[in-house]
Amino acid sequence: MNLSELKRQYSVVIVGSGIAGLYAALNFPEDVDILMLSKKERHQSNSSLAQGGVACVLDLENDSYELHIEDTLIAGGRANDFDAVTQLVEEGPGDVLRTIDYGVEYDRDENGELVKTLEGGHCRRRILHHKDTSGKEMVDKLVLAVEKLPNVTIADETMVTSMSRIKNGFKMEIMSGSEFKTVYADFCLLASGGIGRVYKYTTNPSVATGDGIRLAYEMGASIKNLSYVQFHPTAFNGANREQFLISEAVRGEGAYLLNCNKERFMDRYDERLELAPRDVVSRSIIMESRRLGSNNFYLDIRYKGEEFIKNRFPGIYAGCLKQGVDISKDLIPVFPCQHYLMGGIEVDLNARTTLPRLYAAGECSCTGVHGRNRLASNSLLEALVFGRKAAEDITKCIRAGFFKASVPEDEKEPDRNGAPLPKGTRTEIRDILQRAYFVIPDEGAIHQGKKRIENILNRLKNGKFAVTADYCEALSLATVAYIILKEVDR
Ligand SMILES: Cc1cc2nc3c(=O)[nH]c(=O)nc-3n(C[C@H](O)[C@H](O)[C@H](O)COP(=O)(O)OP(=O)(O)OC[C@H]3O[C@@H](n4cnc5c(N)ncnc54)[C@H](O)[C@@H]3O)c2cc1C
Repeated sequence: MNLSELKRQYSVVIVGSGIAGLYAALNFPEDVDILMLSKKERHQSNSSLAQGGVACVLDLENDSYELHIEDTLIAGGRANDFDAVTQLVEEGPGDVLRTIDYGVEYDRDENGELVKTLEGGHCRRRILHHKDTSGKEMVDKLVLAVEKLPNVTIADETMVTSMSRIKNGFKMEIMSGSEFKTVYADFCLLASGGIGRVYKYTTNPSVATGDGIRLAYEMGASIKNLSYVQFHPTAFNGANREQFLISEAVRGEGAYLLNCNKERFMDRYDERLELAPRDVVSRSIIMESRRLGSNNFYLDIRYKGEEFIKNRFPGIYAGCLKQGVDISKDLIPVFPCQHYLMGGIEVDLNARTTLPRLYAAGECSCTGVHGRNRLASNSLLEALVFGRKAAEDITKCIRAGFFKASVPEDEKEPDRNGAPLPKGTRTEIRDILQRAYFVIPDEGAIHQGKKRIENILNRLKNGKFAVTADYCEALSLATVAYIILKEVDR
């Protein structure tokens, strides 16, 4: 993006082009001018990788809002915010149906009826999906819809490096390649996604470094439950940092989970077997690995047959084949890894943070919807519902008459030069968190880890480093790791 093409001031800046940011943009009236920032290319996000689908109650004869609410509360250990869950479940179906109006195609049967699948923790089939590439389908279609909006400018490869509050708005430093610019926003919606890259192994792509959480924290917004991290039980057990996800839906369709002796073992830990919620399955795998002294676990879906597998899970089939595993003939090696963040920037039912004019939606926010553990396929739904809520609330403020951000006439460029980020900084942060705070936390490593991360964070903040993506992301990772470990250090 050539930053000189951007204006100096926008009514709304949306940080992020995942489902939360895209759907929010679609919910503003066309007289509100919006800048949408995307750290990489606009399709690159956690949203694009979603496989399973989006949960919502559409069939009120065989399902009910009460049942979806109850499933969400059970998965969340009843630490959820009940009003937020109710809003999610009751308003979500309307938003999902609107995505169909924007062109999103969910799988249908031969009569044209929407096909709903089952995932762990759901007592009814209520997940709409597009084969096993649901997120890509949603992002592709919503991006096309947003691109048609005359009031939205999307800036790809453009990262917010820092942000501060000014009278009636925000001052934001943005960077694209080696170019910098200061933009001003009357309102800001942080839709910057997750924190996966603070772990050694995660299903999240490289953009997931918790930047939005760091920016909100630095400005003094309340951050809540950052230690509520979800570990997915069945990521492909390969050598890469970004682990390929073997969706819950594979177990939903009947795959067995096997230990190193190729035996099913979930009955030792939970009567819901393979369909127990994610945290339970992840913990069971770790306990079983300690019992048997082996990290080798497998999913077995072979008995479903090649035709079913290729048609229902084409993305997973192709992804595993790339790693040399034909899932219609071979066992799939799996192990837990970081997947999702339930906590984040604290928001209310309208996606308002604790700071005026600052909103947050999607994975970077903490709406209270998920409690301690997210129910599968509730997060795309949350991104839709709370993305819309943010847009509606900001629009209401704009319509009620408001003061625009006070922008200075001209400003001195900040000095962005300095030393490069010391090699190994990000690796060290990741190693500490992976060791101290994985599926079963290591109490001994938490305290030491927190002290070390605090040192790294102070060095990054107080040293004179060049403003680069590497440096800003390291700052975000250290901030996120520090808040997590501080929360759990007793
Ligand atoms: C492999 C995988 C499978 C999943 N499957 C499902 C599923 O089946 N169902 C479900 O409900 N959920 C699923 N999830 C979770 C779900 O995809 C995410 O929680 C959700 O999509 C998050 O959307 P978001 O809009 O909040 O963030 P994201 O989609 O992650 O988007 C974040 C955006 O913020 C931008 N950004 C970040 N920092 C900056 C910065 N400093 N400056 C500018 N831009 C920035 C990024 O570039 C990106 O555009 C899955 C997640 C993964 C990783």
